[in-house]
Amino acid sequence: MSAGTQQVVRFHYSVAEVGKPAMESSREGGEPIAALIGAGNIIPGLEKALADKKVGDRFELLVTAAEAYGPRNEALTQRVPKKYFPTQVALRPGVTVMLQTQQGPRPVTVVKVGMSVVDVDLNHPMAGKDLNFDIEIVEVRDASEEEIAHGHAHGTGGHHH
Ligand code: ZN
Repeated sequence: MSAGTQQVVRFHYSVAEVGKPAMESSREGGEPIAALIGAGNIIPGLEKALADKKVGDRFELLVTAAEAYGPRNEALTQRVPKKYFPTQVALRPGVTVMLQTQQGPRPVTVVKVGMSVVDVDLNHPMAGKDLNFDIEIVEVRDASEEEIAHGHAHGTGGHHH
């Protein structure tokens, strides 16, 4: 990172749990995502790896759970009335559902489905997992003053206001 300037890095990624097929990829019809380095917008292990890269770099990266989404917390299960779930989703164990919470939408994993309630696991679906990333750097540029003030990248792949 050059003195006094924060960088915005735009990159394509796919991510997989070690030994499994990709769970998520920006290449599947998506845009590369933009991250303001040093702002904590992305997981620490990834942010560190992006800090010294240049356009065109393509690399694989292993990020341990501790540097990704942290350990799983077994106490993070909750019983939620069915009415809070989107009706178009077939609720069964193992399915990830976006639940509207007071903190905004949050992915939860269904553990058990009852008559009127559903037990869900509130851990991030990738919590406790070591992750393999496949990264390709699309753009590296200096962040604008506005981006630094907001603490996130703007424009393509970044935050839209
Ligand atoms: Zn902003």
